[in-house]
Amino acid sequence: MIKVPEKLDMLCNQCSMSLAGGCTIRGVCGKDPDLNSLQEALLYGIKGTSAYYYHALEVGYDDPRIGHFLAEALYSTLTNVNFDKNRFLELILENGRVHLEAMKLLDKAYVETFGRPEPVEVPTGTAEGHGILVTGHSYKALYELLRQIEEMGLEDELKVYTHAEMFPAHAYPELRKFKALYGNWGGSWLYQKKEFAEFPGVILGTSNCVQQPTKAYQDRIFTVGIAGLEGVPHIEDYNFEPLIKRALETPRMKAYDGGKLLTGFHHTNVLAMKDKLIELIQEGKIRHIFVVGGCDTPHKGMGYYERLTELIPKDALILSAACGKFRYNARDYGTIEGIPRFLDFGQCNNVYSIIEIAIALANELGTDVNSLPVSIVLSWMEQKAIAILYSLLYLGIKGIYIGPKPPEFLTPGVFEILRRQFDLRLTGDPETDLRDMLSKGTKVEEGSPLAEELD
Ligand code: SF4
Ligand code: SF4
Repeated sequence: MIKVPEKLDMLCNQCSMSLAGGCTIRGVCGKDPDLNSLQEALLYGIKGTSAYYYHALEVGYDDPRIGHFLAEALYSTLTNVNFDKNRFLELILENGRVHLEAMKLLDKAYVETFGRPEPVEVPTGTAEGHGILVTGHSYKALYELLRQIEEMGLEDELKVYTHAEMFPAHAYPELRKFKALYGNWGGSWLYQKKEFAEFPGVILGTSNCVQQPTKAYQDRIFTVGIAGLEGVPHIEDYNFEPLIKRALETPRMKAYDGGKLLTGFHHTNVLAMKDKLIELIQEGKIRHIFVVGGCDTPHKGMGYYERLTELIPKDALILSAACGKFRYNARDYGTIEGIPRFLDFGQCNNVYSIIEIAIALANELGTDVNSLPVSIVLSWMEQKAIAILYSLLYLGIKGIYIGPKPPEFLTPGVFEILRRQFDLRLTGDPETDLRDMLSKGTKVEEGSPLAEELD
């Protein structure tokens, strides 16, 4: 049983002026809880940005302006540098702008390195042969592993499966071309201890959302890149020889047909059918577009997202990304005039594609994103999701729902600022929220057929 400590107004222990146990009511330096909260909000946002920046650097893409901002933001949180709350609010929105640039850079890096994503149905069963399960966010690691398996001529012996955020890898032609890449195993990071124990082959952790292993699989898990686990071998320089050798010692898996999951939507393939989308919106055949995406978390409030996606009416699209979708992506949502109602854009960074689509639709309809019949419902677990929220706020998007719980690092005072400025909302009851969302987005130009349909 974890002992829950008494709720503190703040906690800072970063300098030698700290009181014993940290400054918990007000800093000796004069920092108050709201300022501390804003500094933490900025620190967590740049942690998220650094993740996308790292993965872009991993495949040789850089934008030094991102690195410069990370340095400026970090420096601003040192002791006795900046006590101006408004300046921190500006830095948080600047973090949102820079995070958008980081998502754009990573999208460019992945598209130019691994090809343009294409919608693809991914098997969830197994193939005959030894298995390797790759979890996390690094396509660079997956690519190197697949390339080395092929170089060794082992593509018939060894089958590679994706797990959690690695699932959208199947949509990239330069990854899909490898015969060893077979299908997807399991759901989000949350169930990894059970799913890795059940997987008979070796496991590779490539980024965050990998946990200390249990005894059931601790002798067949490796890490690479940024990931690290105590007592677990780490692959150096993407040389997967030790992992491949270990995989060949694990029991062979049998062929099993487990059904398929669809992924691979991207702003390029969705905007290719922009005219059709606009037509369907104007005819009222697409009444609303829901963006329901983000992380999976153990919080019981995640049931909200399962229920909401179940309740969303059949004349609405659901655009999703990141690993929370494994709670609701296996349903058959059907299609609207041939367009799948549930569109999976991939990893959390692929929210960039959803933003591109929203901006393009708004431009086409002569309106702004806030006036579109679009509702955004985010689930957050860690700091990348927080930085994505800042990007949406930077774009001036209002009325975003966030859950399954408010961030602990935001004081009521700071949350209130975001509520007033951006109409930031917390997820509540799915039925009530859905009614509110469906009534939104009618402020299109007077006389437009879209306005009439939405009345
Ligand atoms: S920076 Fe301020 S609040 Fe933090 S430990 Fe030092 S004196 Fe305390
Ligand atoms: S979406 Fe969030 S929780 Fe899920 S694997 Fe990625 S970072 Fe982790």
